[in-house]
This record gives sequence, C-alpha cells and structure tokens, in this order.
Amino acid sequence: MAPSPAYPVVDLLVIGGGINGAGIARDAAGRGLSVLLCEQGDPAGATSSASSKLIHGGLRYLEHADFRLVRESLREREILLRIAPHLSRPLRFILPHAPQLRPAWLIRLGLALYDRLEGSPSLPASETVDLSRPPWSAWLKPEYRKGFIYSDVQTDDARLVVLNLRDAVEHGATVCDRTRVRAARREGALWCVTLEDSESGKPHEVRARALVNAAGPWVGALRERLAHDPRPVGLRLIKGSHIVVPRIEPGEHAFTLQQPDGRVVFLLPFEREFTLIGTTEIDHPDPEQKPQPSTAEIDYLCAAANRTLRVPLKAADVVWSFAGLRALFDDGKHDPAAITRDYHLELDGRHSEAPLLSIFGGKLTTYRALAETVMNRLAPWLPTPAPAWTARAPLPGGDRPFGEVVAELRTRHPHLDPVWLEQLARRHGSRATRLLAGVEQPGDLGEDFGGGLFECEVRHFIAHEWAREADDILWRRSKAGLHMTAAQRLAFARWLVDKRSPDG
Ligand SMILES: Cc1cc2nc3c(=O)[nH]c(=O)nc-3n(C[C@H](O)[C@H](O)[C@H](O)COP(=O)(O)OP(=O)(O)OC[C@H]3O[C@@H](n4cnc5c(N)ncnc54)[C@H](O)[C@@H]3O)c2cc1C
Repeated sequence: MAPSPAYPVVDLLVIGGGINGAGIARDAAGRGLSVLLCEQGDPAGATSSASSKLIHGGLRYLEHADFRLVRESLREREILLRIAPHLSRPLRFILPHAPQLRPAWLIRLGLALYDRLEGSPSLPASETVDLSRPPWSAWLKPEYRKGFIYSDVQTDDARLVVLNLRDAVEHGATVCDRTRVRAARREGALWCVTLEDSESGKPHEVRARALVNAAGPWVGALRERLAHDPRPVGLRLIKGSHIVVPRIEPGEHAFTLQQPDGRVVFLLPFEREFTLIGTTEIDHPDPEQKPQPSTAEIDYLCAAANRTLRVPLKAADVVWSFAGLRALFDDGKHDPAAITRDYHLELDGRHSEAPLLSIFGGKLTTYRALAETVMNRLAPWLPTPAPAWTARAPLPGGDRPFGEVVAELRTRHPHLDPVWLEQLARRHGSRATRLLAGVEQPGDLGEDFGGGLFECEVRHFIAHEWAREADDILWRRSKAGLHMTAAQRLAFARWLVDKRSPDG
C-alpha cells in the first residue's frame, strides 16, 4: 500500500508494526504529530504475535533485582486493565512449591513485594494454597502439596498491536503495511527515506523529521545501516518457543512451574479448549532465519510440564507450536534467562540533524510506557506536541467493561451463539456491536468457514485491520485456525484468493 501523498514530510516515521512501533505511532498521532508507520509484512507478524501473551510484572525479574522494570510493568498492567478490558483477562497463577529449587520464605517474600510494589493493584493479592486437595490434586503429582497463588493478566498480543494501529489511524496516522524501509539518508534536519512495496518491489521516497527504529529482531541490522556510529550495539536474539495442547485443567487457572535449570515454564489457559505452554530460551543470531520450535524444545516443554503434572504429556499431544525472537539489549549476562527484559533506547544524531531512535529489548507489557519515553526523548526535534495522553484513553472497543459488553450482545442477538458472542467481544470489545449491525440470524453472518470464523468478521479484518493472507486472519486477527480442520483452513485460503481475484 503506498503512503498517503498527504504527508510529503512527516514529523515521525516509525519502522516496524510490532507492539512498540504501534504504541509509538498511536501516542505520537494523538499528540497531533504527523506520523507514518511502515511494516514490511503483516502487522504483528514477527515477535509481537509469538509472546506468552502475558501482561505481567514478571515475578521472576525480582530475582534479578530488576525492580524498576517490575514496578513499571505492574503499573502498566493496571493501565491496560482500564484502557483495554476486552484484551486484559485477569488470571490466577498457581506456583507449586518445589522445596529443592527455592525456599518457601523466598517465594513468600517475592510475592509480598509483587503485591505491593506498585500501590494497591485492583487484582486479588497472593496467598498460599493446599495443592493436596481437589481440584489441584487431580492434576498435580502428589508430592506437590503446597503452593502459592498470585494474579497476573493474559492478553492477545497480535490484537493489542492491531488495535493500537487502528487508534493511531483514527488519530490521523498513516499505516503502510507490506512496506519495507530500504534505505534512509540525512538531509540536514530531515531524513529522506526510501520505502519499497514488499510485494511489487516498487520504491517510494518520503521525508521525516525523526526516525524510530522499532524493527524488533532487525533493529541491530537497520541501525548499523543508518546510524553515524555503525559500531554494533549489544543485541542478543533469543528464540522462545511455545506449544499448544488440549486443555490440561478445565478451570481458568494458569501454572508457573519452576524448573531445575532455574527457569520457569508457564501453563496458560488458551482459547477455551487448549493450554499454552512456554517458553524456551535459545540463542538465534540470524533474524532472517524464521524461528521455528525444534524437536528438542518441544521435548523440553513437555518434560517441564511432566515434572508437575499427574498425567504425562507427549510430543504427539501438541496441536500447534510457534516461536518468536526476543531482541534483548545485551547486558553481558551469559545466561539468556538473566538478560534484562527492560528496554534500552539509543539516540543517534547531532543536535542540528534529524534523529534516529533505536529500540532494544522491552516487553509487550511496557509498550505504552516505552512510547511515552520515546516521545520525551524526541521532543527537542519535534514540533511542540501535546502532553502524554494514552494512560487514560481507551483502546478501540475498550470504553466499557467487558462483562457489560457481553451481556448487551447476548440481549441484542438472542439468536446467535452466546459463547461466540463472548469471543467476538474479546476480540473487538464494544465495537463488536458495530460489526454485528444489521445481523439478526446466524445466516446474516455470511459464509461460515468453521472454527467460529464468519464472513462478516473476515470482511472487517480486511477493511479495517490490514489483513490480507489467510494466516493473518487464522492465526493473528483471530485464532480460528486452531479450531478448524486442515480442510477448512485450506477452503478458507481458497475463498480468500477467489475474493481477491479481479472477478472475485
Ligand atoms: C517467546 C516470547 C515470549 C514473550 N512473552 C512475553 C510476555 O508474556 N509478556 C510480555 O510483556 N512480553 C513478552 N515477550 C516480549 C515481547 O513479545 C516483545 O518485547 C515485543 O513483542 C517486541 O515488539 P517489537 O515491536 O519491538 O518487535 P516485533 O513485534 O518483532 O516488531 C518489529 C517489526 O518490524 C518490522 N520490520 C523490521 N524491519 C523492517 C523494515 N526495514 N521496514 C519495515 N518494517 C520492518 C518487522 O516485520 C516486525 O513486524 C515475549 C517474547 C518472546 C520471544
């Protein structure tokens, strides 16, 4: 998609449509700046759809004394619960006690800190739990008698990206998907940037007062091409893989499982019928090599779960798996688990020159705070922008409590499946009502592709959420792919190709 000719010179050009780029574009556009965001592929097509999908303080970072990060993350958790209730699902996490790994007093101390580090959180505080009693005794091995229970939040990473982009556009930003930033050179106070249509290869030039390099795993390579000082900044690319298996615990609890290697592995309720298990940490230096879960990683995750679960998991139980790359700021720690998850911003440019700001590290959880920090760092180069605003403004569909939206949808649409209506509300919040305008009967939803995917939502994904290929819709805008058979996925992909053909 070509950038809008309405912006021959933009205030800010953001490279990368992952969560960090999307959050920065939203923040900047809402402050009245002209913003262009370029994403070489599908928004959230890289790391930001391959996370564990947690909005969390990161209990284990306390062990590394990363208090600043934990405090900021807990504050952001509260903000997201407020501005995106449909994308922020509170969960209770069970942490079975393994005395040979960490003493109970240490865990109790950590949890007390976690509960109180950032004011008075709205989620229930931690407590101890007797795991030798039902329902836990049905799922956990009998040696796990004692445990702890604490709160965190689950989100949908890819939808969080898309709704930030949507809001950026509604505040005046231009989003160019399938558009690669190929080159950029300084012309005094401006950047002259060469964009390339990722599909046709057609080049296009734009000018920008400031450039943000939010290219995730590609941040280092891009910075080396564009910055004055081409010496590499420490970057560690660490692959993390997840597996999805049929639901282990029928309730809505998550499990935090301590491992003998010092790591923790999460078991998370996922898409009603499944459990998401992750993650691993393996060096993966080449971002051009698409990360895939290896057999060894799948075995590691099964073994990690089997240390605690009564009924063992096998690799054959895995119904889906995915991997992503953490682009971490290399703070010299050898152990990937010990490298800080905090973000590091590197600013390049002398005072009279257009700046380049590169983002290393960071978490999904802290994307909004990171965007505010980016705006502060770039302030000297930008027209005086409005003050910070994103902590109070709901994301699209986040203006009403989730339960209220679900109840209203069910009242308005008594002939539609109530479970499906709840899932629709999770994806779109209060905006689900717009999507269902004019729908009375199931037949009004258009073609039924299976897995809860209907034509009316597909058309919305294409028209308003930059979806183009079948995978964009099946695995990122929704997770319908997980609920469909291989034949249904193929039929949907064919339908989409037919619709896109000139006579479709
Ligand atoms: C396994 C794993 C689990 C995680 N779990 C959690 C979690 O539970 N909670 C949490 O808070 N965080 C988690 N994280 C961290 C979080 O996912 C990342 O910090 C975050 O997604 C990074 O977002 P990003 O925008 O920087 O990068 P990305 O999402 O990778 O986006 C960068 C984008 O830039 C684009 N791009 C690159 N080069 C160009 C170019 N030249 N032109 C145009 N576009 C370009 C890419 O296509 C890509 O889409 C996890 C990470 C991993 C890997």
